[in-house]
Amino acid sequence: MKLDRASLLELDRAHVWHPYTPAHDDSRPPLVVARAEGARFWDVDGRSFIDANSSWWVASLGHRHPRLVAALARQASELTHIALGGLTHEPATLLARELVETMPGHDDQALSSDRKLSRVFYSDDGSTSVEVAIKLCAQYWAQSTRASRTRFVALSGAFHGETVGATSVGGIEAFRSVYGPLLFDVVRAPSPGDDLGWRRAIDAIVDELDRHRDTIAAVVVEPLVQGAAGMRIYDPAYLRALREACDRADTFLVADEVFTGLGRTGTFWACEQADVVPDVLCTAKALSGALFPFAATVANERIYDGFRGGRDRAFLYGHSYCGNPLGCAIAREVLAIYREESVLDRVARIAPRVRATFESLAEELPALSRPRSLGAIGAIDLGDQGYLDDKGWRVYEAALERGLYLRPLGDTVYVAPPLVIDDPTLDALLDGLTQSIRAVIAR
Ligand SMILES: *Cc1c(COP(=O)(O)O)cnc(C)c1O
Repeated sequence: MKLDRASLLELDRAHVWHPYTPAHDDSRPPLVVARAEGARFWDVDGRSFIDANSSWWVASLGHRHPRLVAALARQASELTHIALGGLTHEPATLLARELVETMPGHDDQALSSDRKLSRVFYSDDGSTSVEVAIKLCAQYWAQSTRASRTRFVALSGAFHGETVGATSVGGIEAFRSVYGPLLFDVVRAPSPGDDLGWRRAIDAIVDELDRHRDTIAAVVVEPLVQGAAGMRIYDPAYLRALREACDRADTFLVADEVFTGLGRTGTFWACEQADVVPDVLCTAKALSGALFPFAATVANERIYDGFRGGRDRAFLYGHSYCGNPLGCAIAREVLAIYREESVLDRVARIAPRVRATFESLAEELPALSRPRSLGAIGAIDLGDQGYLDDKGWRVYEAALERGLYLRPLGDTVYVAPPLVIDDPTLDALLDGLTQSIRAVIAR
């Protein structure tokens, strides 16, 4: 039995609690989606939409990539789940090796072996991958000779996920202030993506690292782009200088590549553009190709070494679905697709067109500001009212009418399309974007 749109909406309204959505907001009922493929999805009435944000940044290989659907079916016919405690399996072991081979610094002969990102801890989503990173760093220092290193440095405008630990390092006030009393205290440094500029931001964070020397467990950053803050893009030189500052302070650098990883910024990992090897790298979202919640936290050998020496030094942590074979099999196929289908070349072709579109919008409409782009990300600001402003939502409505799903971040309108989007669909996306903004913003 297939229910029609009205019945589904009635059930939805009665029982489904939507993320990041005001309760009982009937002004904007959800689209009822029936099917998705490639860069598009279709609603129950057969209307087609281009998925301009890759469904919250996960569908980098599009929807239902045939190789991924096949990998899922293949794995499901053999082993769908088994605990990773005292057990292991082919998908988890092969994926770990293949993931390690993609890591920044993997082929760098000059990088010492304890700095190689070589230990993979699996979890379920971006938030847990960050939660794992936080606990790994905290426990490493707690059982070292430097137990005073308990605090984390994180950036204004940072987004690292939804769990309480990830929210603590997060720096977007609208997402964190209500939970204030629950959050652990973080040393907050300015965003390198603000108008302040990355040079002032690096001076400030180096200052903090000096001042809090010997108490810092790790610095946590989104490399090159603070996504949820409104696609704040910053100079790789900041990341390089931060790596050096972490080395001087002998503290860990955690790169949250949950959004930036898997080609989104033009390189497989964003850290590569800064020639930086972090101590911990978090990945999720596109890692499992929009099929399955799945994540990995990759730590270097030095951190792993800190956990050797018996039961009382073990990492007492692990989610129920840790290392799930379906997730591992899909992620393996995702990595294979990147290797075999020239996905990064595709990003190189998308990037200039995304850039040109945002630049010409800014030229045409002086009310718009800060056109910016990196890889397959482009963004522009409609005003300066911040996250709760309505202009972005008016563009969203105008875009839906044109068959484009273009969810804003406050007054920032952005695109982060599937990297496999074909040329005609990309044209339609960029054209729809331009028209939708023109419909809302006066000349
Ligand atoms: C989305 C995101 C997360 C959280 O990932 P979830 O899968 O939503 O838990 C963490 N860090 C960054 C940079 C993200 O963009």
